[in-house]
Amino acid sequence: MMRLAEMSADELQQMLRHVRAEYDAIRARKLKLNIARGRPGEEQLDLSNELLSLPKPDDWITEAGDDARNYGGDPKGLVELRRIFAPILDVPVEQVVVGGNSSLAIMHDVIVWALLKGVTAIATPWMKQGRIAFLSPVPGYELHHNMCIEYGIDLIPVPVTPKGPDMKVVEHHVRDPRVKGMWCVPTYANPTGEIWSDEVIDRLAAMEAAATDFRLFWDDAYVVHHLADNSKPAKRILPACAAAGNADRPLMFWSTSKITFATAGIGFFAASPANVRWFLDCAKRRGAGQDKLNQLRHARFLKDAGGVTRHMKRHRAILAPKFSAVLQAFERRLAGKGAAVWTRPEGGYFISVDTIAGAAQRAVRLAGDAGISLTAAGSTFPNGHDPKDSNIRIAPSFASLEDVRIAAEAIAISILLAAVEKQLG
Ligand code: PLP
Repeated sequence: MMRLAEMSADELQQMLRHVRAEYDAIRARKLKLNIARGRPGEEQLDLSNELLSLPKPDDWITEAGDDARNYGGDPKGLVELRRIFAPILDVPVEQVVVGGNSSLAIMHDVIVWALLKGVTAIATPWMKQGRIAFLSPVPGYELHHNMCIEYGIDLIPVPVTPKGPDMKVVEHHVRDPRVKGMWCVPTYANPTGEIWSDEVIDRLAAMEAAATDFRLFWDDAYVVHHLADNSKPAKRILPACAAAGNADRPLMFWSTSKITFATAGIGFFAASPANVRWFLDCAKRRGAGQDKLNQLRHARFLKDAGGVTRHMKRHRAILAPKFSAVLQAFERRLAGKGAAVWTRPEGGYFISVDTIAGAAQRAVRLAGDAGISLTAAGSTFPNGHDPKDSNIRIAPSFASLEDVRIAAEAIAISILLAAVEKQLG
């Protein structure tokens, strides 16, 4: 197989005609498929339908003896639910807090509280410290970026390696006291899919940050979302930071959005005892408590940590073939041509593709014209601007397996066509 960069102009022209004909044939099929959003598919949601009839009509008293239908109870949330997730995240139950239906909403609140009040009772509010910044591995998650953009927090991009963020770049930037936070998706990062190595995590835990109120925003969204055998999540951050003398550095977030129901699941927060006290103190001014019935429902349904593992295996059985379908199409259509490189994640929700520079937007447009909606090129970069115009995020979860097969073929051909056009100049 000859690489595009090694082909003569005649060979490229010949290839262009060939690929264009294949592309036109796909376009003629007038497809209408969506591979844009990392949403669970319907079959996955069906796995949790038992939740719709829980708790049972006579079941509303929690383990602590509270009436789940009423105000009151532990502000940390139901212990029976916290106990399910504490061993999974390897956090003491006392340091786990249940918080509403969305982990992003908790991240948002934490940022706003840090801006208005500071990250501890004695810290200066971030908004009184001039222009501040967050580090963000790129490509990354646009909703993380957008939160910072919304509140005037600068984003400093950090390149991603197969082992996580480039730590030399991180260690360089945290010497600047303006840098108050860093976005981290340590297990099956969105969209690049890697698991951060022990070395990366130890360095994040131990590095010297100029800002004493620097925090790692540890988004464990995909901590149990494995697609392969013997997978395990990234090393745990709380003990690593505690061992390095920085116990208050990490703030952990996760949810059941991609375990049970998205936006009708449970969001979680965990951190050091001091950070948990700070969090609860801020949260008590926000309202009179969380939805205890939803917590009870989830505790009854998931039962224990083993219940979560068994449930995630059912998700895997649905998701893994969709990921394989995309990877097989890419292998068949793109391997050895130098048109793109792509990730082969062992978990999470995304495949990240890097086309040759300057071809991503065109490829996404071509796919769109052929009826395949993809996430806009560049959306994995702050302000939607990918300086190389090369990254495309593929989310194979939502469409049916048959549709993913068809879409993957169309996407691969669109990427190839865009790359050949770009190579011809
Ligand atoms: N964090 C990451 C990294 C995600 O990819 C997503 C969803 O795509 C979320 C958080 C969403 O979390 P939640 O539904 O709990 O707000």
